[in-house]
Parts: sequence; C-alpha cells; structure tokens
Amino acid sequence: MRCDLCGGNAFEEISNRDRHGKELHTAVCLGCGLVSHMPVPSEAEVAEYYATKYRRDYHNETTPSPRRIMRAWNNGERIHAQLASFLTPGACVFEVGAGIGCTVKVFEKNGFDAAGIEPNKDFNIFTQQKLKAAVANKNLFELPHKATRDLVLLIHVIEHFSSPTKALKHIHAMLNDDGLLYVECPNLAAPFTTFGRLFHYAHIYNFTPKTLTKLAAKCGFTIVQQLTDENDANIHILFRRSEEAKPAPDSAHADEVKQAIHRYNWLTYNFRIGYLSSRIKKISSYAQEFITARTFVERMLS
Ligand SMILES: [Zn+2]
Repeated sequence: MRCDLCGGNAFEEISNRDRHGKELHTAVCLGCGLVSHMPVPSEAEVAEYYATKYRRDYHNETTPSPRRIMRAWNNGERIHAQLASFLTPGACVFEVGAGIGCTVKVFEKNGFDAAGIEPNKDFNIFTQQKLKAAVANKNLFELPHKATRDLVLLIHVIEHFSSPTKALKHIHAMLNDDGLLYVECPNLAAPFTTFGRLFHYAHIYNFTPKTLTKLAAKCGFTIVQQLTDENDANIHILFRRSEEAKPAPDSAHADEVKQAIHRYNWLTYNFRIGYLSSRIKKISSYAQEFITARTFVERMLS
C-alpha cells in the first residue's frame, strides 16, 4: 500500500478499534502524517457502501427528519454567507456529496447557478421532489472533465474517498481557471473528542490542516483563506485552482499527529476549560431544534 498523499509505504498502526469498539485498523504515514484506514477500501467498496448502507449505518434514517433538514438548511446558509463575497453574481456552484441538497438550494435561491451530486439514494426523492434542488444521483468520477464550475463544495466529503488525490485532481479538471474549492472536514489535530471515539469506517482519512493543505497543493490548489483555527473541531479551507505543485514530505508531522490525538483522556477531555459551556449550548440548541424543526421545514418547503 502507498500513502495517498506522499506515496510513502512506511506506516505505524495507531488504533485497531472504531468508536463502537469494532475492529478497524488505522495507521499514520510516517512520511507525511496522513492518517487513514489500513488497508484503504477500494473505490468499488466505497461506492457500494454509499449507494446502499451509509445513511442507515450512520444516522439510522432513510428519509430526512425535520431536525436534520433544518440543521442542513442553516448550515447551507452559513456556508453561503462565508463564501458569497468570493463569488461573482450568478457564478456556477457545484456541490460534491450534496446530502439532502439544502446547501445547493440556498445558493440557488441567492441567484447562483447551483447544482450537485449525491451518491446515496436514500434522500433523493425528498431532494428532487420536495426541495426541488438540482442534485443528481451520481458519483464524482462519472462526471466529465469539463472546466465549467466557479466553485466546488466538499462539505464533510473528502474524508470518505478511497483516494482524495484522485478526487481533487478530478475536481481540478471541473473548475474554471481561477475556480475555487471549499473543503470542510473534521480536524484530527483538534481536541474534539477522546482517542477512543475518533475513528469509524465511514471516515477513511483523518486530516489535519497540514495534511489537507499538502494534499490540495499536490493536486494544484493554493490556499485563499483558512476560516477556522488550528484548534477548531473542523477544518474549513477555501482553495483556488492553480498549476500543479509538488508537496514536500514532512516526516516530523507524523509525530505531531500522534501527540495531538493522545492529548486527552476521558477525564481531561471532559473537564477541559470551555467543554461544559459548549455542551450546554449544544443541548439547548438540540432542544430548540426539537421544538421548532417541523414548522421551520413546512415554511421552508412552501
Ligand atoms: Zn504519506
């Protein structure tokens, strides 16, 4: 096996269990610090998983609940607010892994030429018939290399590819000359959970801001802006398409990654400053969602 980022073949296993205690082997590449399953599942295995099992495995639902829709809509509005100033009016926006389709619909409502793809079939009927969002039931690699998009969105998607390098190179070919790529994914280097809760099958890769940036650089993208800091639970980075650039392997990063993921045990994680107040905020926002979601979605759809 070769590392998807640096091409190296020296790995160190860092975990043999997923977050539910089931067997799952996770390794860090000693050449660059990229963390992935060991072995990495093939593209065919990944495609099969997303076409049929993913939603049910992960969220236990086959139609989106009002709370999920409301949360996705609000998230779409946040993403639009963050990115609109980087785009010209009417720009062509394309989301890979569009989920329910709320983000695509938010961009469309704001005057952009917005569309997307979602390989999972479970929510397609809602997306196409109720939300009327332009989301096709397709896989990224079925799309032609046609440079027509001004912005591609990858929201919690890059960690699910069998080869993120192949995915970003494909997206590179779909973007106009100075097109943008916006990526959000979990930040492995941030204190967002304890070690035992980090890994699960759906996340084949676990990025840090450094490994994500180097991977993007290798595929021909430069950073426009990093929108979250190093300690945020999620990485939000806006990239711009550029000419192909090679990453310098950084073996020191493997040690930084190993230290970061073992930073907290249960006790120190739960009692760190700010944890309690963030939990309280989260619980009260869940309660509010529970009360308001149904009315929110009815109003949104009408
Ligand atoms: Zn590597």
